[in-house]
Amino acid sequence: MSVLPIIIGADHPLLRKKTKSVPKVTKELLKLIKDLQETVKDADGAGIAAPQVARTERVCLALISGKMIPLINPKITKKSEEKESAEEGCLSLPGIAVDVPRSVEITLKYIDAKGKAQERKLKHFDARVVQHEVDHLEGVLIVDYQAIG
Ligand SMILES: [Zn+2]
Repeated sequence: MSVLPIIIGADHPLLRKKTKSVPKVTKELLKLIKDLQETVKDADGAGIAAPQVARTERVCLALISGKMIPLINPKITKKSEEKESAEEGCLSLPGIAVDVPRSVEITLKYIDAKGKAQERKLKHFDARVVQHEVDHLEGVLIVDYQAIG
């Protein structure tokens, strides 16, 4: 396992690239997940997405109920109309904090590290972290919310 370098900067092209769905859970993918686990732990983050370590797979980790959960091909299938705003930071944007409105409740579908399809309903902080990480997989960063206020 290794701690990977984290890409920094709102204008970095790799952070702006849309990721590709993973066709299969391979050994290589599990190694990437392990490295992401190490990297996010080392950086003391609440989540991390593949583009932040210069990878293009649709994979991220998110702190859900206090556990760092690997999410393969995550998709938010439902978002509550109700939103709440809170300040977020990002490992790729050190020193920057943005008030980001996020849906209070979401339904999340993903593949787990065993290759099994999962569906979970998440609220508040858990929902916020997942929305932040899924944004990364679409090339969206917290600074993009600044204009909206
Ligand atoms: Zn981030």
